[in-house]
Amino acid sequence: MKSFAFHSPGTVPDAFALLNDVSESKLLAGGMTLLPTIKQRLAEPAALIDLAKIPQLSAITVDGDALVIGAMARHIDVVTSAIVRSKVPMLAHLAAGIGDPAVRNRGTIGGSVANNDPSADYPAAVLALDAIIVTDRREIPASAFFTGLFETSLEPNEIITSIRFPIPSTAGYAKFKSPASRYAVVGVCVAKAGGRVRVAVTGAGPCVFRVPEMETALEARFEPGAIASIKITAARLNSDIHADAEYRAHLVTVMAKKAVAAAIQGL
Ligand SMILES: Cc1cc2nc3c(=O)[nH]c(=O)nc-3n(C[C@H](O)[C@H](O)[C@H](O)COP(=O)(O)OP(=O)(O)OC[C@H]3O[C@@H](n4cnc5c(N)ncnc54)[C@H](O)[C@@H]3O)c2cc1C
Repeated sequence: MKSFAFHSPGTVPDAFALLNDVSESKLLAGGMTLLPTIKQRLAEPAALIDLAKIPQLSAITVDGDALVIGAMARHIDVVTSAIVRSKVPMLAHLAAGIGDPAVRNRGTIGGSVANNDPSADYPAAVLALDAIIVTDRREIPASAFFTGLFETSLEPNEIITSIRFPIPSTAGYAKFKSPASRYAVVGVCVAKAGGRVRVAVTGAGPCVFRVPEMETALEARFEPGAIASIKITAARLNSDIHADAEYRAHLVTVMAKKAVAAAIQGL
């Protein structure tokens, strides 16, 4: 592994200054993706800027009608948070299904969202809940954030500070997971807020996406049977050793029905 400098700033402005000072520097959250990438020499940063010593980045709070989760909140923090469990229990359930205990004890919501792995769980919740990604310089709606395979609308050196989730009437998440990594082969999040419903799918395509036909059907009748006959096209879905595109298309309907059932139970 190539040697690199390591910085541990105490504030977001200090982190930003360090990022700008050293070209080829990278933010470090839990290192769950970044460190293996460096070990495999797929990235060779000159400096790592660790966000772990910035306390406010780990806060989980309620602000008006929104649940605000700091970018450095680890998956285990979301699982165990009484605030998350009471306001958006679906998020605690989702986080509990991420990886294994080691991953949940190190991985963070900010690192997951910034990385935008096509099989990651959080992007489905962020898009279905119509969340806002708050950075050190602006607020980005979920609909404009996830732009492609491992791509987001983050600018160079932009730091996610928190994710702002409008609290829904109810929401549910279901995934068909890889038995090895537990990443989503297909994961579906369904959120109901007032009379509106949003359905977001992860794992199936190169990037998280919504299913408007299911949303319309669920706005008319919020129960699994309302979407049982809706099957999305397999065109442009992923095909790999875990599942081909046709099977993933089938799984979207199956997982969406389970997500609606979970939402009705308030899970
Ligand atoms: C074995 C294994 C199994 C996994 N299983 C799952 C799973 O089932 N479901 C799932 O969703 N995920 C899974 N993951 C991913 C995991 O949940 C992590 O969230 C993800 O790897 C990102 O790791 P991290 O938070 O430690 O971020 P890092 O690895 O530290 O950073 C990832 C990237 O995000 C950037 N970054 C980090 N924080 C910020 C920030 N605040 N602002 C801007 N950029 C930032 C970094 O510079 C880097 O480019 C798994 C990972 C592993 C290793």
